[in-house]
Amino acid sequence: MNGVLAKYSLNTVCNEAGCPNKGECFTRGTATFLIMGKNCTRNCRFCKVAKAAPEELNPEEPLNIARAVREMNLRHTVITSVTRDDLPDGGAGHFASTIFEIRHLCPDVTIEVLIPDFQGDYVALKAVVDANPDIINHNVETVPGLYNAVRPMAVFERSLELLARVKERNGNLFTKSGFMVGLGEKEEDVIALLTALRNVGCDIITIGQYLQPSREHYEVVEYIHPGQFKKYEEIAQTMGFQYIASGPLVRSSYYAEDGFNYLKRA
Ligand code: SF4
Ligand code: SF4
Repeated sequence: MNGVLAKYSLNTVCNEAGCPNKGECFTRGTATFLIMGKNCTRNCRFCKVAKAAPEELNPEEPLNIARAVREMNLRHTVITSVTRDDLPDGGAGHFASTIFEIRHLCPDVTIEVLIPDFQGDYVALKAVVDANPDIINHNVETVPGLYNAVRPMAVFERSLELLARVKERNGNLFTKSGFMVGLGEKEEDVIALLTALRNVGCDIITIGQYLQPSREHYEVVEYIHPGQFKKYEEIAQTMGFQYIASGPLVRSSYYAEDGFNYLKRA
């Protein structure tokens, strides 16, 4: 895994965000690629990804990702990026090129993209939707009442609208979102959030425990009991989500291929 990543100079969110599941996922031969550099233009207080001047886009990166996907023998791949508010299209074209190159080189691989909000730019979003990945994921990350404290440069309604617009543009694509708990939200906030996501047709949901990456990051307010994760899962089931992953170590891309395989069979 590390050899292929180094060979093509690729980054993963597993490394850059310090994901606790890295050992397990790398051993299973899966990873989530992080495109468009290691530096983010936003300042989410829960996130370990570097906040620094954005890097030059590497035009070779989409093809290199496809080559890595092929060498790693992946059946399902997850591509995400730092948020690139500095780029005119927010990096949507780069996402679309990456999807295109993977489709071309590895036609049997299913593709999940975890995208930023492109600052609400619908033209940018359409470029990604029209590249026809299998799943478009956009994480809401937390309940709306905590956005100012946790995600100050994001807008909850904009994120919801993105998920709605994906479905409007192509009803055959699966949409996915995820959020963390333990940031100070209440159960009723979580239920309201799940309701809002379901109302925009979100198919897949992931719910995981927030862990503080360092002392400089937002503090963990609460460690949520596994029974509460189970309860959220059951509530989400009754709302009609098609696939739900809810548990302390769940991350957006944790066992992502299982969710997609489940939907394909359903
Ligand atoms: Fe990487 Fe996702 Fe696994 Fe974490 S859960 S190590 S981000 S693939
Ligand atoms: Fe991290 Fe994404 Fe926020 Fe950037 S936009 S700081 S990568 S969570």
